[in-house]
Amino acid sequence: MSGTIILRMKKDEENNASNSAVKEVTGVPVTMMRSAKHNLHSSIFHPLLREWQSMSTTNFTACNLMLPIFVSDIEHTERIESMFGVYRFGVSSLISHLTPLIKKGLKSILLFGVLRHLSKDTIGIHADSKENPVIKAVKILRSHFPDLVIACDVCLCPYTSHGHCGIIGEDGSIDNEASIKRIAEVALAYAEAGAHIVAPSDMMDSRVAAIKQALTLKNLSHKVAILSYSAKFASTLYGPFREASLSAPSTGDRQCYQLPAGSAGLAVRAARRDVEEGADMLMVKPGLPYLDIVKRVKDAHPEYPLFVYQVSGEYAMLQHAANNKAFNLLNAVKETITCMRRAGADCIITYFTPMLLDALNQQAKY
Ligand SMILES: [Zn+2]
Repeated sequence: MSGTIILRMKKDEENNASNSAVKEVTGVPVTMMRSAKHNLHSSIFHPLLREWQSMSTTNFTACNLMLPIFVSDIEHTERIESMFGVYRFGVSSLISHLTPLIKKGLKSILLFGVLRHLSKDTIGIHADSKENPVIKAVKILRSHFPDLVIACDVCLCPYTSHGHCGIIGEDGSIDNEASIKRIAEVALAYAEAGAHIVAPSDMMDSRVAAIKQALTLKNLSHKVAILSYSAKFASTLYGPFREASLSAPSTGDRQCYQLPAGSAGLAVRAARRDVEEGADMLMVKPGLPYLDIVKRVKDAHPEYPLFVYQVSGEYAMLQHAANNKAFNLLNAVKETITCMRRAGADCIITYFTPMLLDALNQQAKY
């Protein structure tokens, strides 16, 4: 014991001697030298230095952005009141809408079907009928834009009369087995139409496994990816989306199958389950209030691309704040995207994609 103390004293003497030597040589107090090592400003005083500090974790290109699109079964374009600048498109107007965006670098889209004319029923018969607008759109878009990656949201709520994401049993609760069977049928229909990615957002138990099995049986599992809405929280921030997709539940809410806002443990379990069931990519939704979940899921599954959905309510909040001159919209949006990347997002699904593509192209000119 005493030997240890003597050794430590000797070490301290040596350190003091060498510190004195530093002070002697440089004339700068050692305490200042020590704190200088922890200065941050010297790393961020120039734009290029800031870029280097941000490389690979927070920067973003068009590859890191996915555009959600609402496609309806009627032909004319409709404005969505609660989401300034977002529209429901008819199938035939998608080409003219997307052509300039693809010229600006758009790489991927996420399609949501909306029924304005077709009927809804208890099992969502038009989720995968020949008249389904998503199925029609995928076929047209694949032939017009061969390089565009097309993802299709898979859920029953836009197509069911009750507006829930699964099938309701006789006792009024979700019939999980019937739901995942139906969800798998719908996913398979989108895959057969040509979707690169099917993205189940229903939050039924074991739907990823059911979809994987359906794709495998049809020999499609090698060319269709599953992007699972793994950690989808029951959020107030979906309000504008429900207006956009006309998918609000007619009774009750979705708290029995979407995650409670505080449930970090369930989110991690849900992501692990989806990985085990064969998901190719994971998602956290909403984005900004859930960045701790993004980090936890990314840390747990670094080998899986992680998507973050900047949802309709987040979009609306930023738009309203900017419209009321609280801040510059582009700067605020770029900050949110950067922070999502920092937390671990590989791709951000955002309605701001057109504005961000413009900004990226502008940046590339300099
Ligand atoms: Zn749904």
